[in-house]
Amino acid sequence: MELFEHMSEYGYEQLVMCSDPASGLKAIIAVHDTTLGPACGGTRIWPYATEEEALRDALRLGRAMTYKSATAGLNLGGGKGVIIADPNTQKTEALLRAYGRFVDTLGGRYLTTTDVGSTGRDLEFVSQETGYVVGLPLSLGGSGDTSIMTGLGVYMGIKACARETWGTDSLRGKRVAMQGFGKVAFHTAQRLLDEDAQIVVTDVYQGALDRARDMGIKVVTPDEIYDVPCDIFSPCALGGIINSDTISRLTCKVVAGGANNQLMTDADGEELHRRGILYAPDYVVNAGGIINVSAEVGMAYNPDLAREKTERIYEVMERVIHTSKREEIPTFLAADRVAEERLASVRGVRQLRRFR
Ligand code: NAD
Repeated sequence: MELFEHMSEYGYEQLVMCSDPASGLKAIIAVHDTTLGPACGGTRIWPYATEEEALRDALRLGRAMTYKSATAGLNLGGGKGVIIADPNTQKTEALLRAYGRFVDTLGGRYLTTTDVGSTGRDLEFVSQETGYVVGLPLSLGGSGDTSIMTGLGVYMGIKACARETWGTDSLRGKRVAMQGFGKVAFHTAQRLLDEDAQIVVTDVYQGALDRARDMGIKVVTPDEIYDVPCDIFSPCALGGIINSDTISRLTCKVVAGGANNQLMTDADGEELHRRGILYAPDYVVNAGGIINVSAEVGMAYNPDLAREKTERIYEVMERVIHTSKREEIPTFLAADRVAEERLASVRGVRQLRRFR
């Protein structure tokens, strides 16, 4: 990869390679854009097969965080850390503290939190070396479990889509098929049930299915979920599940869920649009987690602020739908447009400031 060419093409500000042979740390921190505030994004701990794979992931995920926070109206930029290690066997206190020291050298340009492979417990070690950590457990003064707000945000996004599709945002009697019944899906489902929606779920984990059954929710096998007659399909497990194999099986009018990177390719987003299926862009409706941590940046965690901002996902989704209709583009492109417009306008304000 031609690094500087790639960085300038996609607007990356800074790439930090972190090496500490004593602890075995090999990490990359990608600071994508700090126009709106400090770059914020989790640290992924994963046994990448190659350094290039780790680098690509850091770059891709860091940029996605810029778009997510910009669209959510947060004063945060985008960034991501990746540590090349097996989270089950290679995480040690020394490795995590060494990583914390590197985060600290950035002086607050990058704020880290949890991601795949990293937990609140790991963040505790990181935070022993740097204050630039968010999303610590509540007991340590952080904002705690993000999935509650993420679940709320997905619900708000579903309601905005319902209003556009059926003229009312009431979900009473609407059939929702949920793929995955983990933390986020559970919190979304509770709200859907409160509104008398009818839910069908699938999961590969028996414990999750038992929990669903206990809530009176119907359960199907993982493959059946695509064919379940439904109004709303809600991916809450894996990425890449909207693809050329699955789209033709969907019976819904709306796709809206918490999973990251739901579209396998941009062409799949175009295809949903062509079929008249309203797609709620994943990073728009699953922003509740980053909104939650933003409510502890520079202040004591304020859960009311987190909730209020998460509820605004309804309005953000409406803006995305409006942009999609106005520009005659699919919603996944419209979301990018909303993010880019905000970034451009704030960059303009910054330029004005320089001449004061
Ligand atoms: P989770 O691990 O609690 O839940 C995921 C569930 O999906 C698990 O129960 C798992 O068994 C199930 N699953 C895995 N493979 C499956 C398959 N093939 N078919 C059906 N079910 C399957 O995770 P979560 O925190 O609920 O996150 C769910 C999704 O939302 C992930 O894609 C995550 O990246 C994304 N997300 C989560 C948050 C958050 O705050 N937790 C924020 C933004 C995005």
